[in-house]
This record gives sequence, C-alpha cells and structure tokens, in this order.
Amino acid sequence: MTISHVAIIGLGLIGGSVGLGVQETLPHVATSGWDHDPETRERAAGRGLVGRVYETAGEAVAEADLVILCVPVGAMEEAGHAIASSLPEGAIVSDVGSSKAHVARALAKALPGAQVIPAHPVAGTEKSGPDAGFAELFRHRWCILTPAEDADREAVSRLSAFWEALGAKVEVMDAAHHDLVLAVTSHLPHLIAYTIVGTASDLEDVTRSEVIKYSAGGFRDFTRIAASDPTMWRDVFLTNREAVLEVLGRFTEDLTALQRAIRTGDGDKLFDLFTRTRAIRREVIEEGQDDNRPDFGRKDH
Ligand code: NAP
Repeated sequence: MTISHVAIIGLGLIGGSVGLGVQETLPHVATSGWDHDPETRERAAGRGLVGRVYETAGEAVAEADLVILCVPVGAMEEAGHAIASSLPEGAIVSDVGSSKAHVARALAKALPGAQVIPAHPVAGTEKSGPDAGFAELFRHRWCILTPAEDADREAVSRLSAFWEALGAKVEVMDAAHHDLVLAVTSHLPHLIAYTIVGTASDLEDVTRSEVIKYSAGGFRDFTRIAASDPTMWRDVFLTNREAVLEVLGRFTEDLTALQRAIRTGDGDKLFDLFTRTRAIRREVIEEGQDDNRPDFGRKDH
C-alpha cells in the first residue's frame, strides 16, 4: 500500500520543503499541516506549503496515513502528545529530527503503541521558518531511517519509497550509530563554527568591523553555518550529548597536537594533515555532495 495522505506538523524549513516536495513529485498524495504558531500557519497557507493548513494538530492528522513531525528535537514529545488522540489506526509516524535516539524515546513516551519510524533527511540550509522551504531540498541528499529492530518492514519500505519520491537516497541504520556519524559530520562542524564566530566577535585587539571587512579570508564560510537556527541547534546539542562529547574529546586532542606542531615548527605534520584533508574535499565533490567550482561558485564583486 502506498501513502495517500501526509500530515506535516511544524511548517518551517523542513516541513515546508516536505509539503512542497510532495505536491510537486506526488501530486496524487493529499497534504495537510499544522504549526503551533498562528503567524506561521497563515504564511504556510499563503505559500501553499501543504494542501490545507488546519487550526489544530488533531484535525491535520485525522485523515493521514503518514504523519511527519518537523519540529525542533526538543519539541518532538509535545508534538507527539498533540496528535496522540487523533492519530488514525495504522498510520506511520515519522520525523525529521537531527538526533535520533532521543526522538525515538520521546515518541515512544508520547505515542505508545504507534508505528513510529524515525528519520533524518541530511539536507538543510541556514534559513528557517515558513518562507525558507523549497521542493528540491532533498534531491540527491541522503535520508537516514532509524527504525527499531521490531519495526514493521512494510512500513519501513513505504517510508523509504516516500523519501525516494522526494529525490532522496535512503539508508537504514541504528539510531545510536546515526547519532555518532552525525556528531562528526554535522554537529561538531556547527559547534566549531559557532565557536569561531563567537571568538572572533569577542576579540579585543581586532575590531568587529575588521573581522567583517576581511571575512573573505575564510571567516565568512563559518558565518553561514553559525547563522543556523538557534533553537534547533540548542536542542541538537542537548539531545545528542554523549556522541558530541565523545567526538569533541577527539577533536580537542587533535587540535592540541596541531597547536604543538605550530609551536615546535613541525611543518611536515601540518603539511601531511592538509594534504589528507584536501583529498577528503575531493571525495565530497566526487560523491556529488558539493559544488566543484572554486569558492563554491561565488561571483567576484
Ligand atoms: P524551523 O524552520 O524553525 O521549523 C520548525 C517549525 O516548528 C517552526 O515553525 C516552529 O515554530 C514549529 N514548532 C516548534 N515547536 C512546535 C510544536 N510543539 N508544535 C508545532 N510546531 C512547533 O526548523 P527546521 O529547520 O525546519 O527544523 C525542523 C526539524 O528538522 C528539527 O528537528 C531539525 O533538527 C530537523 N532538521 C533540520 C535541518 C536544517 O538544516 N535546518 C536539516 C535536517 C533536519 P516556532 O519557531 O514559532 O517555535
């Protein structure tokens, strides 16, 4: 059985992109949605992010056979409670949260007995809110499903087919492994970017206007990541604490080793590392995960 009605709870960047993506690639599938913010509901209706925006979560999910929770990770349990009494029998409940073990626990609490299959589309931008979404966001990006061991296989393949229809490539993995992999590839880079931008703005001998003026030296690439949604990222670090701390421990050791190489003038160590990292950039391009144009294809001003 394929999906015939998708309900989206949380109509920001990811929820809006799912709604627009479904309407573009699966036009026979009905879409409905709800967000707790009345202004967001109004904007979502205006942009046509879903076929119909409802005034309550219960009404939005009443006809759905797939419900996707697109709220910050720290709000998943609350969103689960909001739909619990109206969830149709047999509907699949999924989400898009950036940390998975926590979401699985939160939804098991809020929706005991429901068919919950957590998921994480590894796609996004630094923008948020109902104006940020676009239908192509998930194309050629990975979506990781983290079903429990006893999850219904047929439901997992229906959810996989759904994400593939939106253009994503699907991988299934254990929630704890997901959390460790994403701690390395997403959470640590965000933490580093937040730190660098914070440190630069706190320096006393280099003025803030100088930092901004000369940002093309590298700083500006970190500012894009550090402009990401504060609520979302606060929740990611609070809910993927163990994996982030483990990876951060390794990172701190490596940083200390580099600090020592700089102090002792160990140019070979620096050169070897920079050669290895350049090769990783090449692999990212070969995998189709970024643009190969110099400076990300930015135009000169
Ligand atoms: P967003 O643009 O801020 O959208 C989230 C929406 O959910 C907002 O409109 C928010 O309203 C609303 N909301 C918050 N709590 C709610 C609740 N209890 N019930 C109903 N609506 C609620 O954020 P996003 O970037 O789409 O992120 C949504 C989820 O996707 C997060 O779990 C995030 O980890 C995950 N994700 C994000 C990215 C990314 O790059 N952004 C990538 C992959 C996955 P208010 O803002 O008014 O509270």
